[in-house]
Amino acid sequence: MIRQFELVETVKSYDPQADEDLINRAYVYAMKAHGSQVRASGDPYFSHPLEVAGILTGYRLDAATIATALLHDVVEDTGATIEELESLFGEEVAKLVDGVTKLTQIELQSDHSKQAENFRKLLLAMSEDIRVLLVKLSDRLHNMRTLHFIKKPEKRRRIATETMEIFSPLAERIGMQEMKNELDDLSFAEINEEARDSVLKRLDYLRDEGKTLVPRIIDELSVTLKEHGLDADITGREKTPYSIWRKMQKKDVPFEAMSDIMAFRIAVDTAEDCYKALGIIHNAYRVVPGRFKDYISVPKPNGYQSLHTGIIGPEKHRIEIQIRTRDMHEVAENGVAAHWQYKQGEKVSGKPTDGKQYRWLRELLEILETAAEPEEFLEHTKLEMFQDQVFCFTPKGDLINLPQDATPVDFAYAVHTEVGDRCVGAKINGRMMPLRTRLKNGDQVDIVTAKTHTPSPTWENFVVTGKARARIRRFVRLKERDQYVELGNAMLERAFVEEDYPLTEKGLKGVLKIFQKETVDDLIAEVGMGHTSARDVLEAVYPGTKKESVARKLGKIVPISKARAKKAQKKGERHGIPIRGLIPGMAVHYAGCCHPLPGDRIVGIITTGKGVTIHTIDCDILHQYEDQAERWIDVSWEQDEKSPNDSHVSRVHLTLLNVPGALGALSNVVARGEGNISNLKIVSRSADFYDMLVDVEVRDVKHLSEIIAALRATPEINSIERARG
Ligand code: MN
Repeated sequence: MIRQFELVETVKSYDPQADEDLINRAYVYAMKAHGSQVRASGDPYFSHPLEVAGILTGYRLDAATIATALLHDVVEDTGATIEELESLFGEEVAKLVDGVTKLTQIELQSDHSKQAENFRKLLLAMSEDIRVLLVKLSDRLHNMRTLHFIKKPEKRRRIATETMEIFSPLAERIGMQEMKNELDDLSFAEINEEARDSVLKRLDYLRDEGKTLVPRIIDELSVTLKEHGLDADITGREKTPYSIWRKMQKKDVPFEAMSDIMAFRIAVDTAEDCYKALGIIHNAYRVVPGRFKDYISVPKPNGYQSLHTGIIGPEKHRIEIQIRTRDMHEVAENGVAAHWQYKQGEKVSGKPTDGKQYRWLRELLEILETAAEPEEFLEHTKLEMFQDQVFCFTPKGDLINLPQDATPVDFAYAVHTEVGDRCVGAKINGRMMPLRTRLKNGDQVDIVTAKTHTPSPTWENFVVTGKARARIRRFVRLKERDQYVELGNAMLERAFVEEDYPLTEKGLKGVLKIFQKETVDDLIAEVGMGHTSARDVLEAVYPGTKKESVARKLGKIVPISKARAKKAQKKGERHGIPIRGLIPGMAVHYAGCCHPLPGDRIVGIITTGKGVTIHTIDCDILHQYEDQAERWIDVSWEQDEKSPNDSHVSRVHLTLLNVPGALGALSNVVARGEGNISNLKIVSRSADFYDMLVDVEVRDVKHLSEIIAALRATPEINSIERARG
């Protein structure tokens, strides 16, 4: 076990200004918090966070990260809280520990093996600070190094599989090749021990054979480069058993030669030297076709840079060579951690920094962004990129990946089209929430469905996924057409009855060609939408109806229609086309000027392509249509089929005393009258009075009258009337 002073000394050795006190306090706190807990190995539990801290000093990380490593399990495994950590160790450390804890909880929450890719993204998205991810990966590395102590084989296997599917690719994504290799190999040892043993045996044999070969190859390469004036470090590196195994599987070849277990590396000072070395080597030896790759001019998405080539090298051995600068090498091994060190160095040497710690990360991202394969880069590497996605869980723990600002409706459609269509509500983390709620990372979403429910046109205003939008639109379009057909039918019936002609399917069929429609429904919908007038259809079906007389008649419709509507209302007759049952916003629209309510005397105005707009008969706007008789249509509320849940927006204009509590009185009275204020606009305000427009949802005109009467009796309200036009 590393001792306290050793840990501090190590950090001090690469960062002399490190906060020694912080590390010491975190050390003591974590040791006490974990107390007598023990690991599967029988070691005190505290040895684990300590080792994790030790791994991170290997990457020369800052004091806050080292403290975080020491504290990373206290919230999950002891009674400690984030608040407590914040008061003791400050906001930065508390935030980092919180981040690591959240990642750990997600890990526990879900069986994610089927969704490894999404899960990796989730982890990246949640690691807003790269140091969180570095601590998490080091935590996993130490757990893998001690995996063999765990007794249950299924548990060992689960952890190893998870490491290989989730954590090793994550390490690779952020360029930490060395850590990735170790994670892979430790997992490999657990998952396929026999395969690994056979690879190891073969390795031993080849290693023996090549004992003298490797130095000879290095010597010859080095002499060749020197002859051309290039000073280079050349190393031979044995591949890991897992990478050898992968290669054997991928290419379906046994491994038999040196080149299969060794990779040679040439490290030089500058990128220019890399190409120079490549030229010298390609000139001196035969090149194996198809092996050359230039990752210097086109870096890998994770920032890796190197030249790769294969040659028939010294003594006719086929070998692989990687050529890179020493800086590139550091990045190739340690990825973002290498960038971190670079910035640390800058701080120590006293060069000015912009004070923002993550500048290096932004720079890295910028470099990566200008690199080729932007899609792949966006897909896998850029941390911020995941800020525009959210990852949520179904109650069963499946992960659903959605764009940012997605709502439960998007979630429902992502789960299944049918779930979306029938969605009536949503529980988010166990609480009923509105369907327009924006989902957050890690939310568990439980969609409530009803068999008879259908998508609502209003959903289109807040969904963000294409799938949800397309489904809702399709539904609305179908429904809308039904509504236009219904309305058109009523309009045609009225026109035909007025002239004493029968409206028949056969009659309509006969004129389809004239209107260039394919089906009778198409024609009827066309009338409902206001593209074709019912009159024109009547004239086409019964050409005997004279144009002039019709025109004359139409001219009279305005007064007749107004007068008749009034008369009909008085008598309680319902001549007009019933509009109940038609969904507002589709074939029928309620005018925003006069806000008609059930019980009001109303008239419809046909608007081309939009169906009918309903106004109250005394609405001022109607004057605009006085010389367009053909657009007027008699409509009525179908009061018999009143559904109690139906609410309509009405608008009142009121003057309120400018005294404390006046607004409260207003809302109280409306609430007591079972009305709902849906909008409120102050028109003018003086020392004594407010003038305001209030939208109130009510059932019908009678309901509104009751509320208005109650408001009149309220002392704070000076005057009130229904707003019109
Ligand atoms: Mn841990």
